[in-house]
Amino acid sequence: MSDIITIPGAIDLHVHLREPGTNPAETIKSGTLAAAAGGYVLVCDMPNNPGNPTWILESVKEKQRIITKDAAIEVLVYAGAQPESQNLDELPKMAKQCVGLKLYGAPTTGNERDYEAEEFAAIIETWHKAAPKKPIMLHAGSGNLSGFIQLIAKKYNHPLHICHVNSAVAVELIKKAKQEELPVTCGVCPHHLLMSSHDEKSRGWFARMQPPLAHQIEAEKLFDHLVNGDIDVVETDHAPHLAENKWLAERENPSGMHDGGNRTCYGVPGIEFALPLLFYQMKRGRISLERIVEATSIKPAKIIGIEPPKKEITWEMTEYRINDDDVASASGWTPYNGMMAVGKVKSMGMK
Ligand SMILES: [Zn+2]
Repeated sequence: MSDIITIPGAIDLHVHLREPGTNPAETIKSGTLAAAAGGYVLVCDMPNNPGNPTWILESVKEKQRIITKDAAIEVLVYAGAQPESQNLDELPKMAKQCVGLKLYGAPTTGNERDYEAEEFAAIIETWHKAAPKKPIMLHAGSGNLSGFIQLIAKKYNHPLHICHVNSAVAVELIKKAKQEELPVTCGVCPHHLLMSSHDEKSRGWFARMQPPLAHQIEAEKLFDHLVNGDIDVVETDHAPHLAENKWLAERENPSGMHDGGNRTCYGVPGIEFALPLLFYQMKRGRISLERIVEATSIKPAKIIGIEPPKKEITWEMTEYRINDDDVASASGWTPYNGMMAVGKVKSMGMK
């Protein structure tokens, strides 16, 4: 199979480019080169940089200075706030510079626990007043999704995007909110669609991220929800770590405890391969090109309130097996090693 297709450039609502901060697995330069290799023309960078979260305007500006200097494609940034970040005064200032606000309602890098939505009440009210149209992106916990939907989408009618859903139950809750015409959307990651909790058994920390991989039956349900549009977008959650740091967690904490005392290393890179993995599923007849374009370009643009990309990507639809040698990210490895893929970016042009 080798054809040429030209489609709108992709937008990723969820990346971690690691600068400024203390994680050396990526830079804005290397991460945006990896994104460009994957057909992306715009990525939105999350705030939880280890050692330097974008909780204050100065950190946002510092990130934007690096973007202006080094980025290979357009990068927009999220503000961040947590109940313990004590940055309410900074939120209106950051709202002008940022594409949205990210909230962590669950355990992940830097957080140990699930939060109640109410703990974010002042943050949500402040953000809503400052930027009523700029979405709140939520990393939901296991039992708090309804509470956040009530507080953000129902009380304020504020746009709420649920990041990286990994269960059909969450999708059903989101579907119900949509039926009530609440402004709620959601995204799914390629690893939650195409890997499963069984992979964590054989790959250890190289297959651990937050939220974790789901059971295979669940992963297949998520794929169906993506195909029928219950899940709005594909987001990569490109979260690079050096292999040596995955190895440290593997040696010190092989069973993957998340209790504060044990070393953890959550997240996987892979933005180069999101579209090629989907194109392979398209070749298998599981998803249409139209739906892929909608989920990776048109809908993400809508969620952040911009026009669909004018830049177009021409893909050569060659089939191949993903190999660590294909990795453009500075992290140098991919959890998709060995998987089938279709498509390499040939060129980028304007519509
Ligand atoms: Zn993330």
